[in-house]
Amino acid sequence: MTNSVYFDYAATTPVSPDVLKVMIPYFSEIFGNPSSIHQWGQSAEAVLEKARSRCGKVLNIPSENVIFTSGGTESDNFAMRGCAFSRRKLYGADEIVISPVEHDAVSKTAIQLRDEFGFVLKILPVDQFGMVDPDTVRNLLTKKTAIVSVIYGNNEIGTINPIAEIGRICQEQNIPFHSDAVQAAAHLPMDMVRDHLNLISIGAHKMYGPKGVGLLGLNSISDLLPVQTGGGQENHKRAGTQNIPLIIGLAEAFYLAQNNIEERNARFSYLRDRLICKILHEISGSQLTGHPTRRLPNHASFVFDGIDGNRLLMYLDARGFACSSGSACKVGSPSPSGVLLALGIQPELALGSLRITLGDKSTEMQVDALVQALAESIQRMRK
Ligand SMILES: *Cc1c(COP(=O)(O)O)cnc(C)c1O
Repeated sequence: MTNSVYFDYAATTPVSPDVLKVMIPYFSEIFGNPSSIHQWGQSAEAVLEKARSRCGKVLNIPSENVIFTSGGTESDNFAMRGCAFSRRKLYGADEIVISPVEHDAVSKTAIQLRDEFGFVLKILPVDQFGMVDPDTVRNLLTKKTAIVSVIYGNNEIGTINPIAEIGRICQEQNIPFHSDAVQAAAHLPMDMVRDHLNLISIGAHKMYGPKGVGLLGLNSISDLLPVQTGGGQENHKRAGTQNIPLIIGLAEAFYLAQNNIEERNARFSYLRDRLICKILHEISGSQLTGHPTRRLPNHASFVFDGIDGNRLLMYLDARGFACSSGSACKVGSPSPSGVLLALGIQPELALGSLRITLGDKSTEMQVDALVQALAESIQRMRK
């Protein structure tokens, strides 16, 4: 085991003991296939539908509109591809609109749809904080728009987008609106009706649930080309025998994440703001990335002048602090993050990025110790 202090909760979280406890019986005691007719199958089916109904309630959608998937990535892929192919077939809609700060699971899917399947890809502008202005969405919509996708809470820079306002504009024109809420669902109250969302991606392992499970929530949208074909599971939209223990874990983690939000966020944002204040104050050439206030309550991200972000991570790791450069998917890649470039940050500066994300175990003492280690590391690296 390690005695390193974990500050990378946006990359993944541990499964909470409460979540683990409810999952365990479903590995080997209640193990039936929910599609089977006998009692073993029926008991599995009953807990599966209970989990579905819990998730539907949290999202404010009917339970049959909850499709369980293998995680955030699959949900994003399914939303984009499923909607794009279906809308092109039905209405000749072949345009896709996304922001330039999407997770790769959305942006790479959109790029594949453009490069391999002939869709037109339109990229929304964002401001210096990586936020989408709803008015700019209206300008890009046409009768041929198949789907609009805007990330809810950004994994790299923490910025929260005005999802409900964007949703209203898409709804006025009857255009499907998707949001990747994998980060946001851990901290912000979710409601697909309030936000005028047609599709939402949720993953369990960013909110103290297990890896390898997520869901795609649907609201007032039925046409979606199944990406995975086979049996009739998940309302004929996603074939394959459901992973009951992981789904139980997802439902429990999602329910817990959506409870006591205000209390938890007050604690998180206090620690986050302390961290941001101290770093900007004590470390010269430091700059916050993402929005100063409209950001995920546990999320602080920076760039440092004249610093190699990957080297900084190694310095911090050696001092017992686990942080990230911004996106877990970019480890080992020497090119600057596209998200930071989209904010207008110079490529050289963007290479000096650091993301610090807090979790339920984070304390004020740990935060203060991290700032000290960071200041010392940067001073040493600049020599
Ligand atoms: C982690 C993450 C994903 C991918 O989810 P997985 O469950 O790891 O596949 C997608 N979008 C965002 C914003 C994320 O943070």
